[in-house]
Amino acid sequence: MERGFWYYVNISYTILCMLLTVIIYLIGYLKNKVGFTISHFLIFLLASLLPLIGIVLILFVFDKQSIDYSALIMPVSLLTIGYGILKHDFLEIRTLARETIFENNFAGMVVLGPGKRIIDYNKAAEKFFEAINISLNNNPIEQILIHEPKLLEIFKSDTNCNFSLMIDGEERFFEIDALPLGGSHEGNTKMLKSIRDITEERRMQEKLKYLATTDSLSGLYNRAEFMNLARNEFTLAKKNNVELSLLIMDLDNFKTINDTFGHAAGDEIIREIGNIITTSFRKTDIPGRIGGEEFAVVLKNSSLEEAKMVAEKVREIVSRRKVIYGEQEISLTVSIGVAAIRGTTNDINDIEDILKMADDALYKAKAQGRNCVVTLESGVEVTE
Ligand code: GH3
Ligand code: MG
Ligand code: MG
Repeated sequence: MERGFWYYVNISYTILCMLLTVIIYLIGYLKNKVGFTISHFLIFLLASLLPLIGIVLILFVFDKQSIDYSALIMPVSLLTIGYGILKHDFLEIRTLARETIFENNFAGMVVLGPGKRIIDYNKAAEKFFEAINISLNNNPIEQILIHEPKLLEIFKSDTNCNFSLMIDGEERFFEIDALPLGGSHEGNTKMLKSIRDITEERRMQEKLKYLATTDSLSGLYNRAEFMNLARNEFTLAKKNNVELSLLIMDLDNFKTINDTFGHAAGDEIIREIGNIITTSFRKTDIPGRIGGEEFAVVLKNSSLEEAKMVAEKVREIVSRRKVIYGEQEISLTVSIGVAAIRGTTNDINDIEDILKMADDALYKAKAQGRNCVVTLESGVEVTE
């Protein structure tokens, strides 16, 4: 074997790599950042030094056969590294990854050990408890959460719960899940509790629900939601044998108002009617905009007479109200049809029947010259 310039370049490069490897592992061991023990270090040192010995032998034990000692030693070195990886989770990649995920997870995580003692927790958990002025240490959870009995209950239980807390004067919602650690044979003495802030999710859900169920112009329930709620209320009233009334309100000559003052003025009137309805009925009543200029309200536990009184009141409020639009003052009136069920009525079986009755009453109110209330009970015109 002839040894030329490039041969020495190659040898020097290889030796440099080996030395750098040993230095890097030595630094890792000295810093001892990630549980790098002496056995890890020694195994890697051995695995890196063996080929180095081979190279030294090639350089200085120059014989006729020109044996490549480093190539002979390399399998031993590889086996040593293999042993290190298998026996000592040598590269620590899995452990490291898991640790990083735990530490930096958006969800707060608390590991509870025997006696419900806190064994470990991550940054997010620390932040969560800091926000409610609680510092975590390895005391039993009973002691740490002594002033938060509801939260303590959740942390002691092994089921998933939702929970809300006032933080900086704002209500925030949390989902607290429990995951048993270790097999059930250990009596589940260890548990991972994860704390997830679901406030934004909740708000988004509420916003979507509001948008899907509310009429944007009047602020009342839209037709679909009104029908859902009214149907439920109707079924309940029938089941419990209690009274229930429904009124339908339609703006009089709205087409003329639109034609005279413009569509935008018409919209303003619908908005105003929404306000009047919201303030004129009880919180428990169900108001909805069921058509262009048509509104309906379900009055729980209300007799036909009571509903008629409320309808009269609303009719009067509307007729007195002047809607200001730009320079204009617009007067308007409504016609109202009212229908009711008493628990025993058996010819009205679903919400459509009572809606139809109220609609018939409304038709009569329009026929009687508008700006009036007509009531119907079980298909019989009662008054007016
Ligand atoms: P009546 O007294 O018989 O109810 O007469 P009316 O003109 O109110 O009845 P009609 O059904 O003929 O007209 C209803 C009008 O309501 C027609 C439509 O242009 C108007 N309308 C429906 N929805 C809206 C809306 O969202 N905004 C406005 N500005 N107008 C609407
Ligand atoms: Mg109308
Ligand atoms: Mg109409």
